[in-house]
Amino acid sequence: MKPAEKITDKLIGAHSLETAEYAALIRARDEVRDTLRGAAEKERRRFYGNTVFTRGLIEISSFCKNDCLYCGIRRSNANAERYRLTEEQILECADNGYELGFRTFVLQGGEDAYFTDERLIPLIGELKRRRPDCAVTLSLGERSYESYKRLREAGADRYLLRHETADEEHYKKLHPDEMSFQNRMRCLKNLKALGYQVGCGFMVGSPFQTPETLAKDLKLIEEFKPEMCGIGPFIPHHETPFAKHPAGTLELTCFLLSVIRIIHPPVLLPATTALGTIDPLGRERGIKCGANVVMPNLSPVSVRKKYALYDNKLCTGEEAAECRRCLERRIRSIGYETVTARGDFKNTNNN
Ligand code: SAH
Repeated sequence: MKPAEKITDKLIGAHSLETAEYAALIRARDEVRDTLRGAAEKERRRFYGNTVFTRGLIEISSFCKNDCLYCGIRRSNANAERYRLTEEQILECADNGYELGFRTFVLQGGEDAYFTDERLIPLIGELKRRRPDCAVTLSLGERSYESYKRLREAGADRYLLRHETADEEHYKKLHPDEMSFQNRMRCLKNLKALGYQVGCGFMVGSPFQTPETLAKDLKLIEEFKPEMCGIGPFIPHHETPFAKHPAGTLELTCFLLSVIRIIHPPVLLPATTALGTIDPLGRERGIKCGANVVMPNLSPVSVRKKYALYDNKLCTGEEAAECRRCLERRIRSIGYETVTARGDFKNTNNN
């Protein structure tokens, strides 16, 4: 048996590898891709059948105090158009989404000082009051333990905060000096301790990424066991320091989706908009490789183009209803089914 096949067998049997073995697997991926895709598909079916969960994404603000080198809405991009939705607009997006069958709303935005706890708490409360059968997910960056606690008490169920890379040196190359890997990890641990369903994740093909840094990402997922994991290709934005760096690939992203599904079988794993942006059938491919979540956009069309994390972002022109229908059709075309459900993480302890 070839070394890569041996490592693959171990991963499928044990849901765990040494960090160096993850790196070796990534290097030799051409030899074992199909085996891993098959095993990922099997795990996915065991937990979720052929269903795909949908999340309605509401991009609440493009103001950001951070200066992440990869991101189009970083504070030093003076040409970024800034907007912020009102509470009314956010609730309207959610009402519209509810009618369309969404039962999870994701409020995502830059780190905008306007959205204090005092403003978010009544907003989350009102969302939960109107829609007690829905989950509220926040994706608003790093905040204090106290803030995460108050937002959780206000009713937030889940929190997405990608770790971006599990290698500290790599983290420093992607972020300005005032941000730190330690703080990111502290935030993720705090969120977990507060009882959120937590999502970490990273960009595939980010500048300076190597099989070794990716191996650390996979080890982190194995150990932290996030309820959700967001991975998508890095895509350059023309007004960032990484404008000239190449985008991540469909091939590597799909491979990693399969590996993550096997490492942590019940994980909620989205086929991201970024994946759909680099390839017209990217999200479909992602689902076939182990993803089980899609997150179409519910933001008002008037602001869609302004939430430009990267160039050529998909679906910035369509109304939410069109997006929903288009995605449902795409998912059905590959033999899967979108469902109207909160789509919570369920660990049946048989992994
Ligand atoms: N401010 C929030 C939301 C950030 S946007 C937070 O900090 O969590 C959500 C994700 O988009 C980021 O975590 C990052 O991984 C991804 N992203 C940012 N710029 C990107 C780019 N150029 N290409 C692909 N993904 C990008």
